[in-house]
Amino acid sequence: MPDMSPNVELEAITEEIRKLNARRTVLYAGIGEKLFSKAKAVQMFRSTVLEIGDIEVKLAAEQKALNAAKKASGQAVCTVCGTWIAQRAKFCSNCGAKVDEDCPL
Ligand SMILES: [Zn+2]
Repeated sequence: MPDMSPNVELEAITEEIRKLNARRTVLYAGIGEKLFSKAKAVQMFRSTVLEIGDIEVKLAAEQKALNAAKKASGQAVCTVCGTWIAQRAKFCSNCGAKVDEDCPL
C-alpha cells in the first residue's frame, strides 16, 4: 500500500470493509434464496417461509404505494433503466435516455 495520510487510509479501509460486507451479504442472500426454494418445497422452516411470504406481499404493496406517491409528486420512471426521474426532465439523469414526451407518466 502506498503512503497515505491517516484519514485517507482510514477511508480506504472503511470503504474496503463496506465493500466486503456488501459482497458477503449478496452471497448470503444467494444461498438463502436457493435454500428458501428448497425449504418451501419440502415444508421446512415453515414459520420462516410463511413470514417471508407475508413480507413479500407487504413489500409489493409498499412498492406500489411508493410508486404512486412518486408519480403523484411529479416523478416518472425511465423506461430504459428504471431510475426515477423528474417529470419535466428531457433526459434520464442515470442513463441519459431521452424521456418520451408522449409517456402518460
Ligand atoms: Zn435511464
